[in-house]
Amino acid sequence: MIKVYNTLSRSKEEFKPIEEGEVGIYSCGPTVYNFVHIGNLRAYIFADILHRTFLYNGYKVKHIMNITDVDDKTIRDSRSNGLTLKDFTDRYTTSFFEDLEKLNINKEEYIFPRATENIDGMVKLIKKLLDKGFAYKAEDGSIYFAISKFKDYGKLSGVDFERDTKSRISNDEYAKDEAHDFALWKAWDEKDGDVFWETDIGKGRPGWHIECSVMSEDNLGQPFDIHTGGIDLIFPHHENEIAQSEAANEKTFVNYWMHNEMLMVDGQKMSKSLKNDYRLNDIIEKGYEPLVFRYLMLFTGYNQKLNFTWDALEAAKNGLGNLKNKILLLGNDIGEVSASLVDDFKNEINDDLNTPKALAVLQEVLKSDITNADKLATVLDFDKVLGLRLDEVKSETIDIPEDVIKFAEDRKNAKQEKNFELADSLRAKISEAGYEVEDTKDGYRVVRR
Ligand code: AMP
Ligand code: ZN
Repeated sequence: MIKVYNTLSRSKEEFKPIEEGEVGIYSCGPTVYNFVHIGNLRAYIFADILHRTFLYNGYKVKHIMNITDVDDKTIRDSRSNGLTLKDFTDRYTTSFFEDLEKLNINKEEYIFPRATENIDGMVKLIKKLLDKGFAYKAEDGSIYFAISKFKDYGKLSGVDFERDTKSRISNDEYAKDEAHDFALWKAWDEKDGDVFWETDIGKGRPGWHIECSVMSEDNLGQPFDIHTGGIDLIFPHHENEIAQSEAANEKTFVNYWMHNEMLMVDGQKMSKSLKNDYRLNDIIEKGYEPLVFRYLMLFTGYNQKLNFTWDALEAAKNGLGNLKNKILLLGNDIGEVSASLVDDFKNEINDDLNTPKALAVLQEVLKSDITNADKLATVLDFDKVLGLRLDEVKSETIDIPEDVIKFAEDRKNAKQEKNFELADSLRAKISEAGYEVEDTKDGYRVVRR
């Protein structure tokens, strides 16, 4: 049984699929006007762990992630760079896919629809909303959703406009009949240049929210199982998706809404606008493997705020290094996966993706009294969910001979037993072999001299 925290019911629920043995997931993807930052990547790592957990439980997974390749920012920045919208957004889409690959998120297992390739579907849905009286055309030709017509508005986020008159509703999406009505369609104006579509509902381009209603239904139907995104999208984006889809089709849009907490820096949300964002490449340039970042993310539940620091990344690097060393010492024989340890692991990961506890079970495997071959098999089995490429440990560390790693392990034990003489002699042996052992906060690291 898989349990997930559902933002809609504000409780942890047992997951029940629409189709037995299958799950449909829709994850809000990037707006490709710039490079994604590691906060965004936290959201995609969370979605990937969800994806892998269902696979691990024998589900067939259909996973959609949209690429927002038209909006105010993509238009503004492509024009100021003198590029077509497509050339401009392609550059960042490619870079985004490279980041996924580096984080062992298998792009081949997802479908990535692009907003600009789904304009017809959006026009169709907007027409339906106009016909049903949920949408209206403003003087300039833009089309808005009339929030007051949709009685369930606010059920996801708890927002209540009559109660909360305070205006967090400040941007240009809200300039209409009612302050909070949002744009489904934006009529062309000069600053859009050559970015527009001539359609039955006029010349213009879609608002942001409508693409997710359309691309999810096209690929997964309505209702579908799980929708993910960061908590910053609950309002207004996901609230608006619900309004559009449920008003148009008069049925539930999504059964389970799952939201990841934010990656923070110095107590503030990491975001481009605050200029406190890092890219995956910044991490790589400082000498960290991308999977060290993935490992760091797994130490905190997706539903907890997480403060990013370089010290924490350094600790994750050492932790992952130690884990790999231990795996290297298990030898090359792959035995049987331990059923009881798999049960323990599933109990944690199936409990709303409790990755910190799942990692603790991984350590239990290494400490257990099963054979090394069985440990290796079990660890590699867990890695189907964790995605740390632990199967590559052997080839990666090939240049560190096993006896050197054995010396280092023995030295660690000697130090723990306060046998410093033995520890020093082992250090000398490591050094003779052409390597250096460095002590770290969580253990040690062996490097070539
Ligand atoms: P955006 O491109 O801003 O729409 O964001 C893409 C995804 O990243 C969404 O699911 C956001 O909720 C998520 N996201 C944005 N900033 C952060 C952050 N600092 N920490 C975690 N997730 C984030
Ligand atoms: Zn979305």
